[in-house]
Amino acid sequence: MIIAIDGPAGSGKSTIAKLIAEDLGLVYLDTGAMYRLVTLKALNDGILGDLEEIKKMLDNLNIDIKENSFYLDDIDVSEEIRKPVVSENVSNIAAIREVREKMVDLQRKFSESKNVILDGRDIGTVVFPNADVKIFLVADAKERANRRYKELVKKGENVKIEEIYENILKRDEIDSTRKESPLKKAKNAIEVDTTSKNIEEVKNEILNICSK
Ligand code: C5P
Repeated sequence: MIIAIDGPAGSGKSTIAKLIAEDLGLVYLDTGAMYRLVTLKALNDGILGDLEEIKKMLDNLNIDIKENSFYLDDIDVSEEIRKPVVSENVSNIAAIREVREKMVDLQRKFSESKNVILDGRDIGTVVFPNADVKIFLVADAKERANRRYKELVKKGENVKIEEIYENILKRDEIDSTRKESPLKKAKNAIEVDTTSKNIEEVKNEILNICSK
């Protein structure tokens, strides 16, 4: 069983995917976090703008995912990968073909012989075009920014909602116009608009789709 949840930043993918995973007993993989790990590594190594160095770095990349925690070089960086500096740079890193090839390969290996739910931008179009269920989650950009803002404030981050809104618009733009696997709804995906729905409503709507 493979469930693909795609959609733009802040549409509620990871919150919903975790709940569906619990409900249906699936393993959950947050593929956005994987691109964030690569971005954090590039930031730490000071090679953000250097394509050749980034490609080299991929050969020795040491990332791991255990029970929804994310490790870079054996250190748990689950919190660090959500920082604004990572959000600001991740879409440029995710637009690099070699980065995507490596991540897609890891995502497929991770999912082997498991019942999984993956969330991302290209799960239903590229990673698992034959997924059993494909959902495309959308929400108004202002609402998405508002959700991210609340999440970060809860974690004690000092952030401005305007900056988050700008970041979301910028990421939407890069993610949906890039050459490699742009963010788009898979042909047979079902679109769910979460703007004015609460988590429970969205969860039930998706569970309903999964049971058909
Ligand atoms: O899901 P999240 O917002 O954490 O993803 C961070 C970034 O990673 C996205 O803005 C996008 O650039 C990239 N991404 C991607 N393909 C995926 C998942 C995420 O390009 N499957």
